[in-house]
Amino acid sequence: MLTLIPTPIGNLEDITLRAIRLLGEADAVLAEDTRVTQKLLQHLEIDKPTWAYHAHNEHKSTAHIIELLKSGKKLVMVSDAGTPAISDPGFLLVRACLDAGIEVECLPGPSAIIPALVMSGLPTDKFYFEGFLPHKKGRQTRIAYLATLPHTFSLYESPHRLVKTLEQLAAACGGDRIAVVCRELSKRYEQKHRGTLQELFDFFTKTPDKVRGEIVIVVAGLIEKAAPKGNKYAHLQNREEDEEDDFSIS
Ligand code: SAM
Repeated sequence: MLTLIPTPIGNLEDITLRAIRLLGEADAVLAEDTRVTQKLLQHLEIDKPTWAYHAHNEHKSTAHIIELLKSGKKLVMVSDAGTPAISDPGFLLVRACLDAGIEVECLPGPSAIIPALVMSGLPTDKFYFEGFLPHKKGRQTRIAYLATLPHTFSLYESPHRLVKTLEQLAAACGGDRIAVVCRELSKRYEQKHRGTLQELFDFFTKTPDKVRGEIVIVVAGLIEKAAPKGNKYAHLQNREEDEEDDFSIS
C-alpha cells in the first residue's frame, strides 16, 4: 500500500495524529525535498530515511518504487507542504500503483485550496480548482475558460505574477467580479484581501510590499447581473434568490 500524507502549509501544529503514526511506522518516506521533510521529521522526533521523489525524477523512479511496494516495503509519500499530488508530485505514482494493483490511501489533511475557498465567503457548493496557470503558452486560453465558469474558481499564484494575473483576470472576467486573495495561510501574517478584481489589482499595484508570501486567489463564478454601484455583493444575493442556493454573504 502507498500512503500519501499531507503536511502543514505553514503551521507545524497542522499535522494529524494519524499522519505522525504512519510516518513513524514507514520503512521510508518519499519526499519532494528530503531536506524539508527531514526538518519536519526532526520536529516530530521521527528518525526515518527519506528518498527523493520529485518532478525531475518521478518518471525515472516510479517503476523502482512500484517494485519496492510489491515486495512489501511500507512507503509513505509527502510533498514539501500540503497534500501530495495537488500542484505537487504524486499523481504519476498513484496511477502507477493503481495500474499495478497496489492499494493507495491519502490521509485527509492540509491543502491551501480548502481554507482559502472556505474563508473567501464565495459559494462553496461547487468550485473549480485551476492550480497554477501556465506562464506563457496557453495562459490566455485558460483565463478565458475560467471567466466562463458559473461557479467559484481558485488558483495558486506566486507573488511576482500576482498583479499580472489580477489584471488578466479582470480583463477576462470584468473588473467588477468579486475575488479574494489569501496570503500566508495558517502562518503568523495570514491575510485575506477581498474586493473586485479591479480593486485588488489597484491595491496590489499601489502596495507592492503586500505582494509577497504564498498566495491563493479565489474568484466568484460568472455573473449575469452586474453588481449595482455601492453593493459589490448584490450579484451574489441575486444569485441566491434565483437559485435558492444555501449561502449568504454579509
Ligand atoms: N500541495 C500543496 C497544497 O496541497 O496546497 C500545494 C503545493 S504548490 C507547489 C504551492 C502553492 O500552494 C503556493 O505557491 C501557493 O499558491 C499555495 N500555497 C501553499 N501554502 C500556502 C499558504 N500557506 N498560503 C497561501 N497559499 C499557499
